[in-house]
Amino acid sequence: MSRLDIFINRMVSQRACLNHAAEQTADLPGPVFELGLGNGRTYHHMCEIMPGRDIFVFERAIASHPDSTPPDDHVLLGDVFDTLPAALERFGPTASLIHADLGGHNAQKNVAFARKISPVIEPLLAPGGLMVSSDRMFFTGLTETDLPRDAVPGRCFIYRAG
Ligand code: SAM
Repeated sequence: MSRLDIFINRMVSQRACLNHAAEQTADLPGPVFELGLGNGRTYHHMCEIMPGRDIFVFERAIASHPDSTPPDDHVLLGDVFDTLPAALERFGPTASLIHADLGGHNAQKNVAFARKISPVIEPLLAPGGLMVSSDRMFFTGLTETDLPRDAVPGRCFIYRAG
């Protein structure tokens, strides 16, 4: 499979999983977290599909497209290993949906990062909340769920709390 195919499958899967997770969690009152703003494409999509929901962005350095830049009061700036524990103190276990796209091009590094960050993310989800990730995560208390039909297995993962 070419790198172009892999990239396209990842994008299609991100959109499918985000659409599915937004619908599944529509009745939960808690905030939505976007981990890794990057260019802001997935953030922009999340704003489009969840217009009434509070979306907070975790990013160490804002460098997004101007159309996809969150308001300052919805940015938690810094390393997620610092900002996620701070968010747990601020919000408690209330997040309705967490999307993580924090990885880079090195698959081995992405797995090691996912192992380290999983226990930091896990306590933030509300019961019934969903976590969507571009990388396989290593949770102890969340259940991996089926992907929507139009997502490509292995390119996106969804986990449920409670
Ligand atoms: N989903 C984004 C989009 O659609 O444009 C792309 C996200 S990009 C692949 C990953 C982002 O995660 C980068 O902007 C990087 O700065 C951020 N990131 C990676 N590790 C981080 C960390 N430890 N703390 C905070 N941000 C991090």
